[in-house]
Amino acid sequence: MSHVQPVHVGGIEVRTICEGWAALALADESPGQTVDWDGERERRPWAFVGPDRWRWHVHAFVVRLPSDVIVVVDTGVGDFPPYAPWEESFEDAWAGVEVAEVRHVVVTHLHADHAGGTVIAGAPAFPNATVHVHEADWSAFARSTADDYVARQPMDALLELGMLSLTDTDQEVVPGVQLRHTPGHTPGHRSVILSDDGEVVLLTGDLLHLPTQVAHPGWWSAHDQDPQLGAAARRLLLWRAAQDGWRLGVPHFARPFGSVGPKGWLE
Ligand SMILES: [Zn+2]
Ligand SMILES: [Zn+2]
Repeated sequence: MSHVQPVHVGGIEVRTICEGWAALALADESPGQTVDWDGERERRPWAFVGPDRWRWHVHAFVVRLPSDVIVVVDTGVGDFPPYAPWEESFEDAWAGVEVAEVRHVVVTHLHADHAGGTVIAGAPAFPNATVHVHEADWSAFARSTADDYVARQPMDALLELGMLSLTDTDQEVVPGVQLRHTPGHTPGHRSVILSDDGEVVLLTGDLLHLPTQVAHPGWWSAHDQDPQLGAAARRLLLWRAAQDGWRLGVPHFARPFGSVGPKGWLE
């Protein structure tokens, strides 16, 4: 059971897997900006914990298309060594997912909280799926280690099995599931646009860390590799989402789904 209810986009169902959450330092978010954190905490108490930390949830999305094809977007930490001590973790988060039925896995980027669950104990976690990774991340993290908190190395197993799709184009994986290169957080970072019957939800990946960034897309995170590039990608996609009334699904928000309102994040 997830604490997030399934979301419907036309005939598409999006389930949220929650592996748990940790309390991360606010000091790493919007560095150099004067942020009214007290005001933010009052408006959205669910996003914070204590005076100087925020609730970093590790979420992944399981998408069932009207054709019954199942696509997974991000895979959680899996058995990768933990990045931060969990405040709460849910060992059975993936229990309800028929992993053998998953046809496509889209990894937004190769940080371990998104790609760590692609390979479990050396074997593909989704044995019948093609795993989509942007080439720029694959080459940028080629020599990564567990210390970098990058899940690239264990994924060599997928390459050897021919299960990896390495591309640098904004293709449609299956009808209704589009990949969009949104670099900055990492060089090959991608967001995913799900659409059916005139409705759209953008699964952002780490284009956003905190809801504050929806009102202030120029504010970045210390975890972004190229902050200026990330801000440009964020501006563009948030503008498009506001213009066209897209919903957003944000993996690290404690409450992942909302939209872009005139004054920022709208739940
Ligand atoms: Zn959660
Ligand atoms: Zn992340």
